[in-house]
Amino acid sequence: MKVTQLPYDPGPAAWDAILPAGNTYPTLEEKRSADWLIIGAGFAGLAAARRLRQIHPKDRIVLIEARRIAEGPVGRNSGFMIDLPHNLVSEDYAGAIEKDRAEAVQNRAAIAFAAEAASDYRFSAETFVQSGKTNAAATAKGTKHNEDYAAHLKAMGEEHELLDAAQMQELSGSSYYQSGLYTPGTAMLQPALFAREMASGLAAQSVSLFENSPVINLKRDQTEWVATTPRGAIKAPNVILTVNGHLESFGFFKRRLMHIFLFASMTRALSESEEQQLGGAPVWGFTPADPMGTTVRKVSGVGGTRFIIRNRVAWAPSRWVNEKSVADMGITHDRSFDARFPMLKGVDMEHRWGGLLCLSRNGTSAFGEVEPGLFAAGCQNGLGAARGTYSGMMVADLASGIQSKAVTEFTDQTPPSRLPPKLISSLGAKVTLRWGEYKAREEL
Ligand SMILES: Cc1cc2nc3c(=O)[nH]c(=O)nc-3n(C[C@H](O)[C@H](O)[C@H](O)COP(=O)(O)OP(=O)(O)OC[C@H]3O[C@@H](n4cnc5c(N)ncnc54)[C@H](O)[C@@H]3O)c2cc1C
Repeated sequence: MKVTQLPYDPGPAAWDAILPAGNTYPTLEEKRSADWLIIGAGFAGLAAARRLRQIHPKDRIVLIEARRIAEGPVGRNSGFMIDLPHNLVSEDYAGAIEKDRAEAVQNRAAIAFAAEAASDYRFSAETFVQSGKTNAAATAKGTKHNEDYAAHLKAMGEEHELLDAAQMQELSGSSYYQSGLYTPGTAMLQPALFAREMASGLAAQSVSLFENSPVINLKRDQTEWVATTPRGAIKAPNVILTVNGHLESFGFFKRRLMHIFLFASMTRALSESEEQQLGGAPVWGFTPADPMGTTVRKVSGVGGTRFIIRNRVAWAPSRWVNEKSVADMGITHDRSFDARFPMLKGVDMEHRWGGLLCLSRNGTSAFGEVEPGLFAAGCQNGLGAARGTYSGMMVADLASGIQSKAVTEFTDQTPPSRLPPKLISSLGAKVTLRWGEYKAREEL
């Protein structure tokens, strides 16, 4: 099968750009063979490689990535590895209780897996921190979302704490917020460091990594698969596709996956006096009480103390948007930043970017053995860090023939449901997204 489209994300991978130069991995420029080939080094691909190495200590495992490691969505996200339900198409993230409970168990298994990797691979202190996160509300409506979600968490038996405006100001230094809802289970990532350090840990365990090596063709040759890149090829009996929404570019789950771009901006590093002027905690992370609102993080590490603002969504069935959309969405980011931090006038955005995300109508993953010896783990919906990691773990187990309750449950999920005809789904999605953003306008 010819791969119809290669990954593209507009703007720089800022989390990576603020770091000192890291390890590089070769471009595939030869014909070689492997026992396992994983295509796509995002959360799912990195997790699948680690899990395969645990199961098959001696096998030849290759992980191949179209771009540089950490330049794809894995290094472009806001870095919330969330344990709790996070239904982006709901009003307040909540879903049905039993389903949410089951999903939290999976997300926590993913976080535990990442925590174990952090320890084994000696991640730096800022890469992975299990500090929890806060749903922040700027309006009475947002506060109501927090209260509703808190009631849902109570019914689930989940630990949480409602914060008032004074507590939110003490945490963030900003008087913008009316309330917050803190939950302790989320792990906060420096996502580019996470990808880099996972990759170097895997390389140290003799997983062969190739970057800048897009797979442009994948075909079955008797009992093996052959993946071709512009300058090389790899033959393997087992191939795992962890290319997220680009599963469709490989010809799978056609008309079942919805593609959107999310956008973010990152400030320059703050000076010491700017930090003091603001006050608040040294680092924190706010997801919006309304799923269509604004995510804000204050980070502090090797790249300095900075803010990251994420909001706005673009519908992109072609898995592409033009570079101009980054600047357009940046206008809202500046407005959001200024509204929250008027005392930081003059702190400009240094980087702006977008990244591709995959959703399905029914919220399930694109997962399973799609052809003999060819496995897929993609479409993570709103929780790519945790769910991507979990689906990577599960696909490695499935492909290795491991029969566990967890694998069966994940394999048995209903596949992503079929989309209505293109015109209707595009129109419907655009209207839904714009309406959602309009309703959340005061939380932007
Ligand atoms: C701005 C932004 C903020 C976000 N914030 C969060 C957040 O805070 N928390 C969260 O959980 N999620 C967040 N996400 C979503 C999250 O980043 C994704 O859901 C997650 O990266 C999906 O993981 P994955 O491994 O399935 O796919 P990806 O991370 O997309 O990895 C797939 C990889 O496959 C590679 N690939 C594709 N085609 C080919 C090919 N032909 N050959 C070789 N390689 C190929 C791609 O380059 C890519 O690196 C955010 C996304 C964006 C854009």
